[in-house]
Amino acid sequence: MKVCIDAGHGGSASGAVNGNALEKENTLLIAKEVKAAFEKRGVAVVMTRTEDVYLTMDQRCQIERASGAACCISLHMDSAGPTASGMTAWLHSKAPERYTVWAKGVLAALKAVGYTSNRAQEVNRGYRGNTTADYAWNAGTKSPSMLLELGFISNAKNLSEFEKNHAAYAEAIAKATCEWLGVEEPEADGGDRENRRLLGIIDSLKELLKELEAFAAEKSEGGTAHDGV
Ligand SMILES: [Zn+2]
Repeated sequence: MKVCIDAGHGGSASGAVNGNALEKENTLLIAKEVKAAFEKRGVAVVMTRTEDVYLTMDQRCQIERASGAACCISLHMDSAGPTASGMTAWLHSKAPERYTVWAKGVLAALKAVGYTSNRAQEVNRGYRGNTTADYAWNAGTKSPSMLLELGFISNAKNLSEFEKNHAAYAEAIAKATCEWLGVEEPEADGGDRENRRLLGIIDSLKELLKELEAFAAEKSEGGTAHDGV
């Protein structure tokens, strides 16, 4: 299993900016964490970029089309006035319903980590203000695709939430996507506990077997046989 992750913007294209915060740096930071979170689950990741370099949309889509990915996500941060907040997922205008299930799963996982939002609708199709047009990423890629806006860089709360939670957001994106793809979760502590419990049962059985063997040996040594009476 393989997925393709695109860190939005890069190089001369900074994307949205708020003070020292650059969208291109935040997207690359979280893209690397998303990659690690997928790999932890046994899913290989093809990245469109791993450095601060400029790529055209066509180059990004070409990398995805050649990758054989099971799905692909382009990571971004929104920008607007200071009060706009929240995360949104953009799907192809004609995306099948199951892509919506994926996007809702990812946003629910991100929401569980936490972010401020005044968005009325978080899963969208098409292009902002035009539901029949599409983002180049969604139009040009081959596998199920999503463009994910990880909060507004222009919103102080969303920006500090991103800076605090990016690793947890990355984990949420990978976990929800793997769930949708049917990839099994690796066993965490629960697995260790279960193993310890089973080893405990095996130890008790070994003890019991030892007792039975000792008893059988005692019997075969004869001892005193009573005739009854
Ligand atoms: Zn962007």
